[in-house]
Amino acid sequence: MKIYNTLTRRKEDFKPLVPGKVGIYVCGPTVYDFIHIGNARPMIVFDTLRRYFEHKGYDVNYVTNFTDVDDKIINRSIKEGIPASEVSEKYIVECKKDMEALNVRPATVHPQATKEIPEMIEMVQTLIDNGHAYEKNGTVYFRVRSFEPYGKLSHKNIDDLESGHRAESHQLKVSGEDEKEDSLDFVLWKPKKEGEPFWESPWGEGRPGWHLECSCMSKKYIGDTLDIHAGGEDLIFPHHENEIAQSEAASGKEFSRYWMHNAFLRINGDKMSKSLGNFFTVRDICASYDPQIVRFFMLSAQYRTPLNFSKELIEDSAKGLERILNGAEKLKGIVDKANGKAVSEAEQSILDNDIPKFVERFDEAMDDDLNTADAISVIFELVRFTNANTDENSSSDYAKGLYDVLFELSDKVLGIHIERASEDMDASEIERIEALIAERSAAKKEKNFAKADEIRNQLLSEGIILEDTREGVKWKKA
Ligand code: AMP
Ligand code: ZN
Repeated sequence: MKIYNTLTRRKEDFKPLVPGKVGIYVCGPTVYDFIHIGNARPMIVFDTLRRYFEHKGYDVNYVTNFTDVDDKIINRSIKEGIPASEVSEKYIVECKKDMEALNVRPATVHPQATKEIPEMIEMVQTLIDNGHAYEKNGTVYFRVRSFEPYGKLSHKNIDDLESGHRAESHQLKVSGEDEKEDSLDFVLWKPKKEGEPFWESPWGEGRPGWHLECSCMSKKYIGDTLDIHAGGEDLIFPHHENEIAQSEAASGKEFSRYWMHNAFLRINGDKMSKSLGNFFTVRDICASYDPQIVRFFMLSAQYRTPLNFSKELIEDSAKGLERILNGAEKLKGIVDKANGKAVSEAEQSILDNDIPKFVERFDEAMDDDLNTADAISVIFELVRFTNANTDENSSSDYAKGLYDVLFELSDKVLGIHIERASEDMDASEIERIEALIAERSAAKKEKNFAKADEIRNQLLSEGIILEDTREGVKWKKA
């Protein structure tokens, strides 16, 4: 598999540290509110990466954190008059519900910053002991100039960074808030302020800096060197640059061999973000659309391509997904008949010769830096092929063979279910819909097409799709 590595700015062949195993760390959300669909992009994309590695036979250790101590959480807790831990615990629960809806599998471990404080204190102490960090009045800073490769991920020059920081740090120095040796230095441990959560440390009561938590949690749950570290592209600098500095200065080993960054989900050309106020929460969107459509939409672009969110594109995704669901439904119909027919020679030849080619092409797309857009095109072709090569005379075992492949690629690897979620509709609702359908059929018989169309459109607006077939009118929920 080839992966675009932000570190080298090239697509490289993926080689795991230990054959057959892969350790992936993905920066997770700061839990102070419901997540928005921009936050869902890395979740869905890297969940798909994990699933693809599993499809290839790897044993995957997938770690993604919750940032549960942060200014935004503290501000929210002050606003609501509840402890910060209550804010974060609440939104972790809500985030997990959204992940489940989007079919993002739980990680191997979901560490939380507040539960890993001893490890963070230990790393800070190591950095002080080896000269990479220093303490000033209860704040511990990382000494950026002591780490020669600083800037290697973001491809920034340390002197350019320094001049950029000068004006800003001058103001801080004047206000007496900053006692850094160098304006580039960043915080590893900060002293508590009144009313904030804090922990005891050798430098007094305080809390860890944001960058530190990912360095510590990835080390604890994966090891000193990760195979892949991932997150949104806004994290390249300073967050990931600082993680590299902390981890490599502490361990003396390479921190991560591959760095993957997803492009933004945009809205009207701007990054979707909380601060711009141009966001939709996952919860809001899933009230209007099946979460599977949202997942399908997210994977319809390769992860390094910016993706614009619009109603039209979501509706295109809904139509695309419908084609897959219909194809799967047709196969399932033949499987469920269990007709006991022997697989014919022609059917066997399709299973042995044609179908593996679709799998190969799907894998080729995914091997090319997780090109889910092309992989979805292969699934469409597979569905077109199975539609054209099955009918009521097909053997159930053959249809099962086709269904299983579609299931593996779409459901297991891309995480896009191929069966419609069964919604329990109460009997009176079904009765009402069927009465309207009967009324429409009567109108058609009387050549009152205007009335027939009116009924069809009314049902459509409720998300009920009618299909005129030889056996009569069939209906389903969109
Ligand atoms: P945050 O809670 O802001 O730290 O974000 C959690 C994750 O979501 C990070 O990996 C961000 O890079 C990512 N993220 C935030 N906004 C977007 C967006 N509009 N598109 C894609 N990823 C995003
Ligand atoms: Zn992180």
